[in-house]
Amino acid sequence: MLIAGKSLQDWKIKYPLLDNLIQYKEVFWQNPSKGFSPSGLDLTLEDIKEAEARFERFEPYFKKVFPETDGVIESPLTEIDEMKTALEKEYSTTIKGKLLLKQDDRLPVAGSIKARGGFHEVIKHAEKLALGHNILSKDDDYSVLADKKFEEFFSAFSIMVGSTGNLGLSIGILPAKLGFNVTVHMSSDAKQWKKDLLREKGATVIEHEGDFSVAVDAGRAQCEEKLTCYYVDDENSKDLFMGYAVAALRLKKQLDERNIQVNENNPLTVYLPCGVGGGPGGIAFGLNQVFGDHVHCYFSEPTHSPSMLIGLMTNQHDKVCVQDFGIDNLTAADGLAVGRPSKYVGQRVKTYIDGVYTIEDERLYRLLHMLYNAEGIKLEPSALAGMIGPVHVAKQGSGKGTHVVWATGGRLVPDAVWKEDYEKGKL
Ligand SMILES: *Cc1c(COP(=O)(O)O)cnc(C)c1O
Repeated sequence: MLIAGKSLQDWKIKYPLLDNLIQYKEVFWQNPSKGFSPSGLDLTLEDIKEAEARFERFEPYFKKVFPETDGVIESPLTEIDEMKTALEKEYSTTIKGKLLLKQDDRLPVAGSIKARGGFHEVIKHAEKLALGHNILSKDDDYSVLADKKFEEFFSAFSIMVGSTGNLGLSIGILPAKLGFNVTVHMSSDAKQWKKDLLREKGATVIEHEGDFSVAVDAGRAQCEEKLTCYYVDDENSKDLFMGYAVAALRLKKQLDERNIQVNENNPLTVYLPCGVGGGPGGIAFGLNQVFGDHVHCYFSEPTHSPSMLIGLMTNQHDKVCVQDFGIDNLTAADGLAVGRPSKYVGQRVKTYIDGVYTIEDERLYRLLHMLYNAEGIKLEPSALAGMIGPVHVAKQGSGKGTHVVWATGGRLVPDAVWKEDYEKGKL
């Protein structure tokens, strides 16, 4: 059987790293296309600023309906010095420079990185509908969107999404609040507690036997039949991507507040867990716009779901999936359990990410355990994928400057579930 026109043997000869990937070994891949001039990059800093301005217009609304926020959907940047010491000890290495954790596990409402992309796509759609029907103007105080009148208006429309869990949670919560009918198509790897929580929030949850791609296809097909239905397409969405990219402007501010310079002598290296690619891709795009050559971005994927790595390495992007290569896409990192990368992301990030590495599930649990012991921070397994990055970079002899590990989720994990994960990471 051919894979994108070549036999498996030919692919392996061309890309010997595939052997290790197929055997589920952890790998570190340096991107040979980094720094090439991007071809046909259709996005600019202006696009990110437009998304940021949209979030700002919605601040009064968020403040009103989610009183636990001050209207700003943002997360803390935390120095994790004890964890740095723990990593150095566990892996017998020295990590140069500061180690910081970008705590998207603390993002209000959704408790994961999906609050960035998911919320942006939803507010853009809601705004467009309301502006288009002349019941809102851009100069209004958007807290009016919490009025009954708007809830009734939005209840004539529906929003659908396919998800392994967290995007479903973010889409399930916000549009339901606005008044939309929400349906979430979940893959078989979605955690039970995520489905339960969504139903509790009023969303319709449809479960599928297959993986992420199956859930996404099912949602897309169901939505296409209805004019009033809007589909959040995690495999191909500019609006998700731009929502994530806003994080770069926010991170710049947080680094400034700490007087952390980013320049040639103090580069910034960022480690991002990767599923379909929108989250890490959008953030890396934004960081590249903000910091240029002084930022380095690495993506991290489970050894059982290295879809972005294979897509980038073979240059086939969404034309191949891990299952084509006999890789099973079964991982405890539900947020990263994606067999086929986003069509939107791969081509776009190709020239500005530094590399991709893979990580075993056992190591995710181990790092989850270590992080709690060192810093008292509770994350979900997917959110630890970035944490081994500074060790890789240190072992390669580089790594001066500032390291930011992106923690992508965890706040909504029920305590009993978290405790089990923590126990699995005990030596
Ligand atoms: C979705 C998700 C990611 C990765 O984002 P993608 O856009 O799928 O690449 C990382 N961590 C967690 C916890 C997630 O839910």
